Amino acid sequence: MKKACIVSIGNELLSGQTVDTNASWLAARLFEKGVLTAGVWQVPDEKERIVKAIQDASQQGELIVVTGGLGPTDDDLTRNAVAAYLGVELEFHDEILRAMNDFFEKRGKTMAPKNRSQAYFPTGAAILDNPIGTAPGFWARKKDIDIVVMPGVPAEMKQMFTDHVLPFLEQSLSTARVVCRKLRCLGAGESEIAQKLGNLMERGRNPLINCTCGSGDIIMHINATAEDEKTAIQMIDDDKTAIRECLGEWVYGEDDQSLPDVVADLLKKHHKTMVTAESCTGGLLSQMLTEIPGSSEYLLAGWVTYSNEAKIRLLGVPEKLIADFGAVSAPVAQSMATQAAQRSGADIAVAITGIAGPGGGTDEKPVGLVYISVFIDGDCKVAEHRFPAVNRHWVRMRSALAALNHIRLRLQV
Ligand code: AMP
Ligand code: MG
Repeated sequence: MKKACIVSIGNELLSGQTVDTNASWLAARLFEKGVLTAGVWQVPDEKERIVKAIQDASQQGELIVVTGGLGPTDDDLTRNAVAAYLGVELEFHDEILRAMNDFFEKRGKTMAPKNRSQAYFPTGAAILDNPIGTAPGFWARKKDIDIVVMPGVPAEMKQMFTDHVLPFLEQSLSTARVVCRKLRCLGAGESEIAQKLGNLMERGRNPLINCTCGSGDIIMHINATAEDEKTAIQMIDDDKTAIRECLGEWVYGEDDQSLPDVVADLLKKHHKTMVTAESCTGGLLSQMLTEIPGSSEYLLAGWVTYSNEAKIRLLGVPEKLIADFGAVSAPVAQSMATQAAQRSGADIAVAITGIAGPGGGTDEKPVGLVYISVFIDGDCKVAEHRFPAVNRHWVRMRSALAALNHIRLRLQV
């Protein structure tokens, strides 16, 4: 098998009310088995549109995976559409109706007459049982195209795919294995990274390297295809080394490691304790760190000093400093960090003060201007950031991530 196509059916997908998570889940499972998805079609609950999508898909792949529209209501037309594509009639299956009756009876309910429609399948199709719902799926073949049709409910679809489609893929596939790994970067944009990596990101290369933007970070996806898993992993490891050489300290982690995870590991490794003094992030930095189990090992306390008065009274920032430079300034950030370290006795103190917006910006101090100060063992440094003023959430999140990154860079050396 070379390629698959995914057809997701449902009006709710086109109105934006439901995100097509089935397609992304399926594409990922297929990819893991070395099957590339040639395309994803999202179509409304309209028979002609469904038939057309399946016809288009059959031009591009040998396996068509369809989800949705198998329910008992009048807008569930997938079985009719697939029968039309196959050029066959729908056939009633008494044993399926009985199984559905049992399903309801076991739950102390009576089956509605409308469920009867779910016992009709295109003639010649193999029925795929649904142990957790009422709508069975089915599998049909037209010439050399396999078409598998499953319910839209994600849990039911996943179970059916795992029970029926994965074993088929394992049998019928070539032995090629696809292995995917990630390197996570912070501190540079996509274009800077692509520029540095040069030929490593060439299309058609194996491993194939793509990058996606996460929440402030860039994720490099390294996908290797090889005869066996061991070879694919070796190819990935070679590429990881090459990428790390090119990108240096921009790479902060691998696979599903988050930046807080990485910083937590570094704090533990170096036996450092830490406190936070946050203004515009309102506790976001300490929230990110305390989300990690065991964070009490290193995080001692956090101040959220939002007002000037709190900065003066709770942290001991000199009033004159705020009067002279403003609360959003390098000297105030530095004073917040130093005071927090002194008051707590922690090895590390991190302070953040900035303008999250949308209001409050001036020409001199625009929205997105943030000062981050990191005090480590008596050495207090401060950095100025000018984040794009996308929105308040973005500025706050970028600030907390940048603070973590400063800690990482100072502890990593
Ligand atoms: P259906 O099989 O069309 O009756 O779908 C049942 C429910 O599954 C829908 O109401 C959606 O909430 C959900 N669903 C259907 N298609 C998808 C999809 N492609 N991705 C995620 N959820 C879906
Ligand atoms: Mg539907």
